[in-house]
Amino acid sequence: EEAGEEIIKVRERLSHIRHKLIVMSGKGGVGKSSVAAYLAIGLGRLGNRVGLLDVDFHGPSIPRMLGISGMFRFSEKEKALMPHEYEDHLKVVSIECLLEDRDAAVIWRGPMKHGVIKQFISEVDWGELDYLVIDSPPGTGDEPLSVAQTIEGTRAVIVTTPQEIALADVRKSINFCHHLAMPIVGLVENMSGYVCPHCGQESPLFGRGGGRRTAEQMNVHFLGALPFDPRLVEASDLGRTLTEREKASPFTLALSNFVSEV
Ligand code: ADP
Repeated sequence: EEAGEEIIKVRERLSHIRHKLIVMSGKGGVGKSSVAAYLAIGLGRLGNRVGLLDVDFHGPSIPRMLGISGMFRFSEKEKALMPHEYEDHLKVVSIECLLEDRDAAVIWRGPMKHGVIKQFISEVDWGELDYLVIDSPPGTGDEPLSVAQTIEGTRAVIVTTPQEIALADVRKSINFCHHLAMPIVGLVENMSGYVCPHCGQESPLFGRGGGRRTAEQMNVHFLGALPFDPRLVEASDLGRTLTEREKASPFTLALSNFVSEV
């Protein structure tokens, strides 16, 4: 009976969220969390109300990247957990905000993760959202499966780097989505080249065009390629993001070309 009640609560909350996007990758370290964060920020800057949900239980990186810390606040009035506010229009929730110690290792089994993911919808005061962007761990494990099962209508954005070893895994992610009948918004190729800050010349890092070719072969929309930008690493290590002023970043510039396509 309690389960039935929770399903109703999940549905109620979801009815106030228009678009749900899960950002996936075949491998770790390809920039999935960065793409999720900057996609959410970019959508917010276009005037959307955006939520960013980090369900990477074993390596949550969103709070660090955005310089968010501290536990959730429980609002007695709303009877719900209040997301962290980032800039003006971004509501952020991460598994890390449930942990007393941010360096604690999370040893949770699939069913527990599933329960927490459900609660991240049912117990959080997301309010009205145009977009909910979900950062999942790499691969095709429990978390993306739970998201697909719990958050009806979720569509996938898949991030890869251009080299063959990463592309082999991306094909698994694409097949996973097909298997679950989860629509794929498109494929993003990250770290696809390096723009020299001195001469502006772009050189490939891991080869070029692999993302587009894989997208074509697998019949998936290719959203675009994002170059390597050393300032992104610097910013995320400092717990901040490249701001509007830093529009000259080749990464954010390239991303702004397809934000409106999701
Ligand atoms: P994932 O979520 O796939 O593990 P992250 O988004 O955490 O990857 O990125 C891993 C590291 O690579 C971070 O230090 C991040 O700042 C850096 N990074 C990601 N994309 C880029 C990029 N296009 N240019 C430069 N650094 C990047």
